[in-house]
Amino acid sequence: MSSIKDKVVIITGASSGIGEETAKELADKGANIVLAARREERLRDLQETLKSNGSKVIYQVTDVASYEEMEALAEKAHSEFGKIDVIVNNAGLMPLSLLNKRKVDEWNQMIDVNIKGVLHGIAAVLPYMRERKEGHIINVSSVAGHSVSPGTAVYSGTKYAVRAITEGLRKEESVNSNIRATIISPGAVSTELTDTITDEDVKAGVEKNYQQAIKPDSIARTIRFAIEEPSEVGINEILVRPTAQE
Ligand code: NDP
Repeated sequence: MSSIKDKVVIITGASSGIGEETAKELADKGANIVLAARREERLRDLQETLKSNGSKVIYQVTDVASYEEMEALAEKAHSEFGKIDVIVNNAGLMPLSLLNKRKVDEWNQMIDVNIKGVLHGIAAVLPYMRERKEGHIINVSSVAGHSVSPGTAVYSGTKYAVRAITEGLRKEESVNSNIRATIISPGAVSTELTDTITDEDVKAGVEKNYQQAIKPDSIARTIRFAIEEPSEVGINEILVRPTAQE
């Protein structure tokens, strides 16, 4: 029997791409899923699809940039299922641009969603996990959290931050409990992520790189693997990218 069966898993950014595929993968293995994102129609459709497979699935419209909304999400998951085993802090934006374009609003959005969103997720679930001395916080970083290219400065900055925060969490929590912290760092994955790029000078290069992009179900299976390992095994970080990606 899969160790995922009956685990309660919150997934942010579940309305498309990696989050949606992760929800399908984990529901298929018998997890109880709490879907979160801003687009309600997408969440409702996904809930219907997963429920028709026999899974227990709820959703809550949530903006991860709001701590109050993340706290309410964790409360809903806990009141519905009585525990929170896993959160996948996956919601993110990637409006890449050159710094001299001064797209300050986009920088702020990335900081609010990619960094603060992850912190809000950690803060929202940690009290529940600490009470049981058990849980798993999975944060989605990126290959761009390991290296910087022209146009990725701010996005990379947010993804380096996700890795630093997750490593700090691991060192603080894992030593005294079975609370695990995992970084998932994908390379180019074919999703809606590149749609937010408004800098035409950067967009063409990115579209070329994404010609070799892998499908999001590969990342979903990677996340499943990290959860499925026994609780004494901490999968700290996994990089997954197209074989041909530099
Ligand atoms: P998508 O654009 O398909 O998905 C992004 C998800 O984030 C959507 O479900 C979106 O939902 C959600 N989201 C965005 N802003 C918010 C917000 N403020 N509050 C709640 N949810 C939000 O892209 P991916 O699936 O590719 O991205 C998932 C993660 O993977 C991101 O963190 C991304 O940085 C990371 N990643 C992706 C790579 C790739 O090549 N695709 C490579 C490396 C990392 P909604 O708009 O409904 O709120």
